[in-house]
Formats: sequence, C-alpha cells, structure tokens
Amino acid sequence: MKLLHDLDFNELTNAVTEEGFPRYRAEQLNDMRLRYRDYSETNNLPKAVKEYFSEHFRSRSVEIIETVKGKDAEKYLFLLEDGNIVEGVFMPHDYGNSLCISTQVGCRMGCVFCASGLNGLIRNLTSGEMLGEVLAVNALHGGTPAERAVNNIVLMGSGEPLDNYDNVVKFLKMLIDPRGLNFGARSIALSTSGLTEKIKRLADEKLGVVLSVSLHAASDEKRSALMPVNRSNPVSELISSADYYFKKTGRRVIFEYALTESNSDDASVAELIKLLKGRCAHVNLINLNYVKERGLKGLGRRRIEEIIKRLNEAGVSATLRRSMGNDIEGACGQLRNKYLSEKSEENRQ
Ligand code: SAH
Ligand code: SF4
Repeated sequence: MKLLHDLDFNELTNAVTEEGFPRYRAEQLNDMRLRYRDYSETNNLPKAVKEYFSEHFRSRSVEIIETVKGKDAEKYLFLLEDGNIVEGVFMPHDYGNSLCISTQVGCRMGCVFCASGLNGLIRNLTSGEMLGEVLAVNALHGGTPAERAVNNIVLMGSGEPLDNYDNVVKFLKMLIDPRGLNFGARSIALSTSGLTEKIKRLADEKLGVVLSVSLHAASDEKRSALMPVNRSNPVSELISSADYYFKKTGRRVIFEYALTESNSDDASVAELIKLLKGRCAHVNLINLNYVKERGLKGLGRRRIEEIIKRLNEAGVSATLRRSMGNDIEGACGQLRNKYLSEKSEENRQ
C-alpha cells in the first residue's frame, strides 16, 4: 500500500481534489499525519474521506517495535511495512533533542570500520519512511508539529544518504516546508561518505542543511584502505566539492574523522593539517567505536588530546565528539544489520 507520508503537501492536495473532496481536507489530513495519528484517531474527517484514504494510503509509515534506553541516549527499532527494520537514536542535549535517523536498510559503501554495511545494501528508504522515523519519535516524546520534541535531525544512522539522493532530498524538503515540519535547515545535518558529484548537486538545491563529510584520512592511500568509496571519489575531488558546498550555501563544512591506529600517527595528522589549513571547516574527531566484526580499535585519551592540540595549534578547528549511545550499540557505526535482519525475518513470518 502507498504511504501517506510519501506525498508532499502538493501531492496530498492533488490526491484530495482528484477524488472530488474539498481542498481543505488536505490540511486536515496533513495535520493528522504530522501528529502521527491514524484515520481512526481523528474526528474532523468525514467517513468518505477516511474510507478512501485508509483504503489507498497507510497513515503511519514506520512502527517503533522496541526501545532500548541507555544512560545518555535512547535507541529505537523501526519496523517498515515490508518487515525490514532500521534504527534511530534519540539524544537529549541542553540545546535541544537530536534524532539520528537511517536512510537505507544496510549500506553498500563497505567502509571497513562500520557495522551498518556488513550485509550490503538491502534497500533505500522512501521519503515517507524517513519522515515516519522523525514523526514517530516526536509523537512518542509528546511533541506536536508546532511544539516539537525532536529539535535537530542528523542523517547518520544506517545508509549513505546521497546514495538515496531523490528520496533524501524530498524528505529534507518536507522537513523544511512550513506545511511540513517547518525545520530550520541549520537544525538538519547530512553525513556523507563523500559522493562528490552528489555533494555538488545538493549544494545546487540550496537547502542549506549542514554537511558533514566523513573524511577519516587525508591521503588517498590511507582513505581508500578505510573507505572503498575513495577509489572513485578521491580526496582532492572531495575537498573541491566541499568547497563548492561552502561557496553555494555559506555553511561551514564539518569533516568527521574517526580515530584508529592507521590514521592517527604523526604523519597522518600532518597530512590532515596540510589538507584543511586555511579552509572554513571544522574537524569532528570521534574515537572509533569498536565493532567486533571489524576488529579495529580507537585510541587512548592521551593521544587524542595530543592530536586535538596539534590541530588547534596549526589553526585547524577541531573538537572531540562525545560518543553517545555506546552502551546500547547506538553509537556511530554500531548500528548493525545482522540482528535487524533476523528480527525482520521474524516479522515476515
Ligand atoms: N553513510 C554516512 C552516514 C552514516 S555513518 C557516512 O558515512 O557519513 C555516520 C558516521 O559514523 C560517519 O562519519 C561514519 O564514518 C561514522 N562511523 C562509522 N563507523 C564508525 C565507527 N565504528 N566508529 C566511529 N565512527 C564511525
Ligand atoms: Fe555506509 Fe556510512 Fe557505514 Fe560507510 S560509514 S558503510 S557509508 S553507513
């Protein structure tokens, strides 16, 4: 069945008027779906509208089937209509609550330190499924479209967002649209492994969302060893597409750098300084979260502090990102697909 959340506001209006219903019914249906309610939970729609729409469009695109509470974050398993499952992580901060969402079931990029890509790509999420992740969590925490409980959104769960370009852009537009969730673009961050042509295309959309680029090494040799995507999107092209993004949107690009032995020796740090010095960029260091299937480890505290000091002294702005959700395997790169695919099997039976 089609999903009501896959329609943007204009498409929803067309669906309403094509059936001969008055236009304002679209606003009512929109209000219902943004509150993550079902047709049976609203009383301002006439029976005929409810009957037609419930026959053709599913009202809620994902269902939270499990919540895992950690000490500083909360993880959800979202069940999709076809039985697949993706994850999201909710992190309360003093500046507002962030939600990390998934954009694909699995991922085909194959970065060697990441759990999300262990089984490859299963499928893309639709725009409505991504919106469903946000709306389900917002409703769970008592938020409404006007008084949101989810204040910031990061596209950093499983999947490579720019490998699912059209759906992700439609989703971002629905978040920003005043008739959608009316998010400010600077409250949304998209993280990419570095698909350079798509970064430029995204810049041309002029949405102005924050762009995070997963760099993880400043030389092609080291980066290709960690991230196969670097073979067709080398560092020099990645940097010029990030520059293009900054030029078009005025947004400072954030470079993510997960620290592990192979990218953290003095020579690697010097390469990083050389690459980013003088650029309007910020480095977000993350101590690599241990993923047992991958066997790679992070660094000790002392070495991390040394690296931050060296970068800052060289004029490269860098901070260490506090890793949240470690205790619930909800931290970066720990969202794994094995457990999820077993669960999905159960749900299909
Ligand atoms: N596919 C996108 C977004 C999802 S991954 C991307 O790669 O950017 C979100 C972030 O987690 C990325 O910066 C990714 O490189 C990082 N990451 C993946 N595995 C990690 C791990 N084991 N430890 C720390 N960060 C990791
Ligand atoms: Fe995919 Fe990102 Fe994981 Fe790489 S780090 S495998 S691009 S989810």
